[in-house]
Amino acid sequence: NWALYQDTLIPRQDAKIDIEDRGYQFGDGVYEVIRVYNGKLFLAEAHAKRMERSLKELRIPFPDCTKRVLKGAQMLVEAEGIVDGIVYLQISRGIAPRVHQFPSSATIPIFTGSASSLPRPFSYMDQGIEVLLLPDIRWLRNDIKSLNLLGAVLSKQQAKERGCYEAILERAGILTEGSSSNLFIVSRGELLTHPANNLILNGITRLEIFRLAAEAKLACKEVTYTVDELFAADEAFICGTTTEIMPIRTVTTIDAENRAYHYTIGTGAPGPLTKTLQKAFDRLVKDVTAD
Ligand code: PLP
Repeated sequence: NWALYQDTLIPRQDAKIDIEDRGYQFGDGVYEVIRVYNGKLFLAEAHAKRMERSLKELRIPFPDCTKRVLKGAQMLVEAEGIVDGIVYLQISRGIAPRVHQFPSSATIPIFTGSASSLPRPFSYMDQGIEVLLLPDIRWLRNDIKSLNLLGAVLSKQQAKERGCYEAILERAGILTEGSSSNLFIVSRGELLTHPANNLILNGITRLEIFRLAAEAKLACKEVTYTVDELFAADEAFICGTTTEIMPIRTVTTIDAENRAYHYTIGTGAPGPLTKTLQKAFDRLVKDVTAD
């Protein structure tokens, strides 16, 4: 029941945001979600580095970002006594009278955070998930982990209303990623995922999968692939900090008359490469966060 506010822990109910905070008014800021396993932060340096990059892209000055992010996250985990959970951190440009352009005098960025318990999603990881295929209606800088998430919010809500766990997104017939996850397919024995450019978030889990795939001698390519290649894939999965590695069982599409079509991926059960990566990821989690 604690909040991080400007590098300090305060009681959750005392944390207040100004109505002219630019994060609140414009989504003018960035965030990160860091996993906690066994009371320990997982891949936290990579998240802190990515936050630093997001801030730089938005030209928000925030000295000692990595150090402050790691310290704040650690303080929250300890204060809340988190065993398995997540830390949420955000930094907005600060408080200023509402004009779109950057405020004329320098603002103080507002750095806030919280931590909560979250079990690992074992049943989804074992059984696989259904996903809804939607047009990618988001902006053209998805490489920045910005507070503007309306494209993701609307997509995830539609997925939920169709009984799906995640929305996977397509731009001009090319799959980009999920609304809050990255997407991989397995085709002809190779792992394929969209290149890390402005159209996707370069996921920390995604990058870890590259490493684990190399260790397991699995071919892994950053290339674009089409909706038809997804439907024909032997395996597909989504990945992310809270998602870990989740096999996709079926893909639902919606036509102009709102009719749903269901496509089974591979055999409809988690495939061998997906399972290999899940095992390697689980091993990594246990090794890195052991007592
Ligand atoms: N893509 C999007 C749009 C996301 O919001 C996320 C975050 O969870 C990811 C991918 C996965 O990134 P990460 O593995 O760093 O959590």
